[in-house]
Amino acid sequence: MKTTLHPRFRNSSEAARAETIMRSCVHCGFCTSGCPTYQLLGDENDSPRGRIALIKEMFEVGEVNEAHSTHLDRCLTCRSCETHCPSGVAYTELLDIAKGFMTESRARSLRSRLWRGLVRRILSAQDLLTMGFTVLRALKPLRWLTSLLPFGIPLAPEIKPGADELTEPSTTVVVLEGCVQQAATPSVNEALRTLLLSQGVAALSIQGEACCGALNYHLGEHDQGRQDMRRLLHQIRDQVPGDALVVSSASGCGVTVKDYAKYFSRSDPDYGLAIEISRRAIDAVELLRRYTWKVKPLRIAIHNPCTLTHGQGLDGAVGELLSGAGFELTIGAPATLACCGSAGTYSVLQPTLSKQLRDKMLSGLQRDTPDVIVTANIGCHLHLAAGSSIPVMHWIEILCHQWQLQNT
Ligand code: SF4
Ligand code: SF4
Repeated sequence: MKTTLHPRFRNSSEAARAETIMRSCVHCGFCTSGCPTYQLLGDENDSPRGRIALIKEMFEVGEVNEAHSTHLDRCLTCRSCETHCPSGVAYTELLDIAKGFMTESRARSLRSRLWRGLVRRILSAQDLLTMGFTVLRALKPLRWLTSLLPFGIPLAPEIKPGADELTEPSTTVVVLEGCVQQAATPSVNEALRTLLLSQGVAALSIQGEACCGALNYHLGEHDQGRQDMRRLLHQIRDQVPGDALVVSSASGCGVTVKDYAKYFSRSDPDYGLAIEISRRAIDAVELLRRYTWKVKPLRIAIHNPCTLTHGQGLDGAVGELLSGAGFELTIGAPATLACCGSAGTYSVLQPTLSKQLRDKMLSGLQRDTPDVIVTANIGCHLHLAAGSSIPVMHWIEILCHQWQLQNT
């Protein structure tokens, strides 16, 4: 797609990068079939090709109008279009650049800006999040109260404490806690640690762990997002042995860390560190599948988050590990539906579309009446739990629970 940048972008390296990405799109439309918002709304402007055309217009005219912000804000950043694109268009990077421009231009209404600012502040306040979720877990039996929330409060299976700390571990890794996950479902990483300890793997934590930066960056607050990333990069460099893998059990945080090198320019003093940490980043499934697990069987439906499937290219990895361990997998999610509608802050900022996508996803996951639905990302976990009559858990929790039942 040939683009002529508006003169105001003459010295912008980000706009130049956007132009390069837009030129790589040949307008073929192969991406539209896998786009959840296009499937739902049937509007070309809510398809990847249509959004690229809107971004092109924005960069040519040098202004953001209401149509731009409406259709770009409806994008889930699920990256299904990248998987479907034969030309390798870096759509998410383009959208992030466009969102940065939209934020700079203050194009959204005051109400929308205030709401987005509030969401960022709440989700960045770790102590407040931890306190809030502790209270909500205690109130979980009051269904009338928790049903008013835009997210679910999942209950975790009982996990017995693992072995004592290892004196001579075979491997050492660092486990990222994640901001929302450590507040909402701390049991996920407790289960991960228990499983790793059983295999002689020592799992370190980072003192005062910073946010991975995904929240701010994907909301168009690039400076703040990069600042968060820098803090986490420095913490890993200063607190973790140089060769330890950086493991994430929340696929949304994991994909961000794997992509760190993309967020820093080559001239940035932290560019080299970002490349190094990206290379050491690994999802929990990539680590746990190195070992053999045997569980007490259970029927489960697997939800594969977009950040695992499209973001990290690990489609089917959780299912393979769990079926190999002895779980019976039910039919699961509709193959054509890419996203459950959680998508970071999407469920709060676009509640109507988000709920429609969730209900479609859940009707597929629940169809075969599994005992449990499992997922791999905290946002999807809370979002699906809000609408599901079947318990929703992180796959690591149920793996650990059934493995303990089988082995004790
Ligand atoms: S599939 Fe790729 S090249 Fe084709 S329209 Fe979509 S983004 Fe452009
Ligand atoms: S990221 Fe997802 S919602 Fe956005 S355009 Fe691509 S496929 Fe559609």
